Amino acid sequence: MNANRLNRRQLLGAASAGSLAALAPSVMTSGANPGTGAGKLAILGGAPIRTKPFPGWPIWDKEHDEPPVVSVLRSGVWSRAGVVAEFEKKYAEMMGARRCLATTHGTTALLTALNVLGVGIGDEVLVGPYTFIASIDVILLTGALPIMVDTDPETFQVNPDRMEAKISEHTKAILPVHILGLPANMDQINAIAKKHNLLVLEDACQAWLAEWRGKKCGTLGDLGCFSFQNSKHLTCGEGGAVVGNDDGLMDRCHSYHNFGRAYGQTMLTLSGYATLGTKCRMTEFQAAILLAQMTRLEEQTRRRGENADYLTSRLKEIPGILPARLYDGATRAAYHLYPFRYRQEQFGGVRRDKFMAALKAEGIPCSSGYGPINRDPFFEHTLRSNNFRRAYSKARLDRCRQENHCPDNDQLCREAVWLSQNLLLGTRQDMDDIADAIEKIYENRASLA
Ligand SMILES: *Cc1c(COP(=O)(O)O)cnc(C)c1O
Repeated sequence: MNANRLNRRQLLGAASAGSLAALAPSVMTSGANPGTGAGKLAILGGAPIRTKPFPGWPIWDKEHDEPPVVSVLRSGVWSRAGVVAEFEKKYAEMMGARRCLATTHGTTALLTALNVLGVGIGDEVLVGPYTFIASIDVILLTGALPIMVDTDPETFQVNPDRMEAKISEHTKAILPVHILGLPANMDQINAIAKKHNLLVLEDACQAWLAEWRGKKCGTLGDLGCFSFQNSKHLTCGEGGAVVGNDDGLMDRCHSYHNFGRAYGQTMLTLSGYATLGTKCRMTEFQAAILLAQMTRLEEQTRRRGENADYLTSRLKEIPGILPARLYDGATRAAYHLYPFRYRQEQFGGVRRDKFMAALKAEGIPCSSGYGPINRDPFFEHTLRSNNFRRAYSKARLDRCRQENHCPDNDQLCREAVWLSQNLLLGTRQDMDDIADAIEKIYENRASLA
């Protein structure tokens, strides 16, 4: 920490204690302000804090990542075989799980797990609305009803204090999502599940190597699911996995993902199907890419974590910027996104859109993140579909609609700002650029009003 920053921190402290009017004179003479964050905002024609790009994603190199893919190509064995099995073994080891089943996508991993857990028509599944659409889709696709549990805005995770009130005689499972790569409160969720005899399926599709009390997210419930889509920390373009410790369940997942053929049976069996299944087998190409990518995951996760911690230490000093809080049990976060809440009142009423435009102009890419997907038209549309109207009474569908009200989540969706994971793969100086840019906007907020 240099003397400049210390001075600016003191300046910020003074500014936040005082009124906007008290700050105005220094804003008016901007350009003469001390410190790195001073000067006219880039969005108003000033020099940006940063013009250098952040690290790109995905990351690969020719020597390390190409030969395994070429080797699969030349083998002529492209469908699921030894390379997929090797990936499953290594991924299970990395997760501290007994078993892993590779699939085509995180979505098909979730569908496989839900089907094997016996979730379907007539059931209700508790889930938070602050998630990627797939977490909700998969519940509806089994024929079950998602019952929304409001979000804890401080942690961005499903609020376990709101969960028990949502349980009915139809509740079958909880689908906690470790959203943004930050662990959900698994102590409370598992205790509720135990008390009410509910299944727990973790959506860890953004939480590779995240930990709850030293155990990997995705291994804390009955089954856990991961995604290896292009934007994810471990990626092969498209891919997914189910992990679990129960051999019976994992055998059935394998069977379900392979047309219902019994686990251990050869791929060429053409009769004797014991159960209904689908097909979502990973290819050898996907597994070859994943095995190469996996060698970087630990180091990259460590770097993201260190940078996120440092960024939090700086951002929490800025009035109106509220970084996500981790629960006490969260011993490691994966930071698929770095989230904070933006309070426009403390930025002189500058709206989030304008703040984000100003931040982008300073050279820091950002987004507003998820909207309230529980209010998206697809949800009502699905409840009105022939399938759902045949499967459920009007009273059941109305209960689903009533429980869909999540005011804390609505508020969070209005306040959230995300930085994507690749920004966290940069240097400490990159983190200072992010914090300096936000401080600069704070100091010059009057000029944006
Ligand atoms: C990415 C993601 C999924 C779906 O994974 P795909 O591999 O894209 O099918 C599910 N849930 C969450 C929270 C995700 O981020």
